[in-house]
Amino acid sequence: MPNHIFGRTAKSSMPVAIRGEGCYIIDDQGKRYFDGSGGAAVSCLGHSNESVRLAVREQIDHLEFAHTGFFTTPVAETLADKLVALAPEGIDRVYLVSGGSEAVEASIKLARQYFLEIGEPHRHHVIARRQSYHGNTLGALAAGGNEWRRAQFAPLLVPTTHISPCYAYRGQRDDETPEQYGLRVANELETEIQRLGPETVMAFIAEPVVGATSGAVTAASGYFKRVREICDQYGVLLILDEVMCGMGRTGYLFACEHDGITADIITIAKGLGAGYQPIGAMLTSQKIFDAIAKGSGFFQHGHTYLGHPVAAAAANAVLDVLTSDGMMDRVKTQGEKLQAALETSLGGHPHIGDIRGRGLFRGIELVQDRNTKAAFDPAKKLHAKIKANAFERGLICYPMGGTIDGVNGDHVLLAPPFIIDDSQIDEVVSKLTQSIEAALQG
Ligand code: PMP
Repeated sequence: MPNHIFGRTAKSSMPVAIRGEGCYIIDDQGKRYFDGSGGAAVSCLGHSNESVRLAVREQIDHLEFAHTGFFTTPVAETLADKLVALAPEGIDRVYLVSGGSEAVEASIKLARQYFLEIGEPHRHHVIARRQSYHGNTLGALAAGGNEWRRAQFAPLLVPTTHISPCYAYRGQRDDETPEQYGLRVANELETEIQRLGPETVMAFIAEPVVGATSGAVTAASGYFKRVREICDQYGVLLILDEVMCGMGRTGYLFACEHDGITADIITIAKGLGAGYQPIGAMLTSQKIFDAIAKGSGFFQHGHTYLGHPVAAAAANAVLDVLTSDGMMDRVKTQGEKLQAALETSLGGHPHIGDIRGRGLFRGIELVQDRNTKAAFDPAKKLHAKIKANAFERGLICYPMGGTIDGVNGDHVLLAPPFIIDDSQIDEVVSKLTQSIEAALQG
C-alpha cells in the first residue's frame, strides 16, 4: 500500500485496519485485535453499533452541515438538551466542538472571558496538576502537566502552575488515612492560590480520574469536595476534564457524580461520539453563560465545525445507548470483574505495584521493586514493549511512560468497550499477562 500518511509515527509502518466487529478491529490480513483500550478510551460501544451507524446515515441524507454562524439544527439542540438533562446540577449550557483539546481550549478561553465580563480582568492564572493531560493544542498542552508531551514545546506554552496530584499509590504517607492524604493534597490548591494572589487566579483544571498520564488514577474520597470548597471560597472556576473518564467510562455518565460535586465547566469528548464521529463538548453554567449574554453578547471563540450535525446525530444515538436500561450498571459490574481478574492474574506479581481504577477504566503500574516502589529504568521502555507484545497477540492496550515528580512510570491503561463479556475479560487479562511477562524477560 502506498504510504504518504504523516501519522503518529514517522518511523514504522502499521497494519491496515479494515473492519470493526463488536470489540474487535480486523486488519487487511484478517488478523483480529481485541480493542482493550477502546483506542484511547474512545470506542465505548464497540465498533459496529447499528443504531449509531443508522443515525449517522440518516443525518447525512438529511443535512450534512450548516455553519453555526448562521443556523442551529434540531440534532444539535436535542444533543444539548439531553446533555443538560443528564449532567450534574448547575450545568445548563452546551458548546459543541470536535474533540477533547478543542473542548479544553474553549473552557480556558471561556473562563478568561467570564472574568473580563464580570469586571475581574486580573484573573488569568490557570492552576493544574502535575499528573495530568488536557490535550495537545498549545493552550491545553500548557494546562497539562505531562512533561514528556510538553518538553519540546515549553517555550511556546503560557506559564501554568502545577500542584501535586492525588495519587495515593505514590503520595500517601504511612501515617495518614486516604482521606487525610486527599485533604493534604487538595489544600495545596489553596496554598497556590494564595501564593499567586487570589485576585489573579482564574481556574483550576483537573481530571476526576486521571487517564493518559498514568492510567486510571482515582482521587481519595473527599479530595474533590475540598477542591470544590477552595474554588468557591476564592471565586476560582473549577474545570473538570472528563474527556477520557466521562461518558460512562467509570460507571457514571459523568465521572464527578462519584465524587458528589459539580463543576463550573466540564469538558467531554471521546466516548460522546464513541468513535463514530469526532465530537466533544464544553458544558457550563447559566451564570457563566449569562455573564457573556448580558455583557458583550459574544463568546470570542469558535471553530468551523462547531455543532456539526452528523457528529451531533452520532452523539445523540450514543447517549441513547449509554442511558439505556442497565448500561451504567453493566460498566460497574464488568469493571469489577476486570479488576478481580487482573488481581488474580497479576496481583501477586513481583513487578506489579498497583492495579486501580473505576468502572471499565483500569490501570496497572509496573515497578522494579514492590517494596520500595522503585520504578524501572526508563531506557528499558517496558511500557512500549508491553504494547508491542500485546499487539502481536491481538490485544490493543494503552501503555504510558514518562516521569512524574522524578519517578519513571510504566503504566498500562485498559478501557474496553462496555459490551465486553466475561470470556472477553479473560481473553484481555490472559493476553496482557503474557505480554507483561514477555516484556519483563525481553
Ligand atoms: N483531556 C483528556 C483528559 C484527555 O485524555 C485527552 C486525550 N487523551 C484530551 C483532553 C485531548 O483530547 P483530543 O485528543 O480529542 O484532542
